Amino acid sequence: MPAAFVGHGSPMNALEHNTFTAAWRQFGAALPRPRAILAISAHWYINASAVTAMDHPKTIHDFYGFPDELFAVQYPAAGDPDLAAEVAEIVEPTWIGQDRDSWGIDHGTWSVLTHMFPEADVPVVQLSVNAQEPLEYHLELAVRLAPLRSRGVFILGSGNVVHNLGRVDWSQPDGGFTWAHHFDDAARQHMTSSPADVLALRHHRDFDDAVPTAEHFIPLLYLAGLAQAAESSADVIVDGYTYGSISMTSYALDG
Ligand code: ZN
Repeated sequence: MPAAFVGHGSPMNALEHNTFTAAWRQFGAALPRPRAILAISAHWYINASAVTAMDHPKTIHDFYGFPDELFAVQYPAAGDPDLAAEVAEIVEPTWIGQDRDSWGIDHGTWSVLTHMFPEADVPVVQLSVNAQEPLEYHLELAVRLAPLRSRGVFILGSGNVVHNLGRVDWSQPDGGFTWAHHFDDAARQHMTSSPADVLALRHHRDFDDAVPTAEHFIPLLYLAGLAQAAESSADVIVDGYTYGSISMTSYALDG
């Protein structure tokens, strides 16, 4: 089963039809039907490793200041408690908790899945991004998750390679700052040729501007780890920038 990292950008992408959402749609339509989706979203960034393990995960509207129609979006995919248990087992001795009642499907996941799987007919499990662990942890966890791909699970990371809300420039809705280009280009070099070395990006001169906080960057590490496990590299699905300081580059593995 292919895997992907999607640069999700604004929650409004759930409702909009643009270059990015068209690429996500096209990618989703071409996928073989997965048994389930395991989503790693920037927006479930907590001090623990956990998977959603409920039968019916709720749609979480984890943002504010957006139109009512965005708060009305529901993504009614089923959960998959069996997959949640399987994830916990496959990564042992790393411990992953079973979340039965706190999280659900957040906008990092549903803003993408409303395009990639518009019917919401494939079960979804989310894996939290553990904020307490170093970046290496996520790369290694992804390697352990890799066998799920051959069991029909579509693994989706959702974040943004460059994500600096403090530097957003409303005057360039489709543009990127030079430093954003430099960092995104360096990330592309790693993802498309040597994903196992992706953590070298920490030493990039623009790392602190591109990754002021880790949560949107870490989901990329999951695709890098899956690529490493497959001794393969990723391909670009779509790229671009919004508001200067957010890159929208998305990657596929075997997609
Ligand atoms: Zn986000």
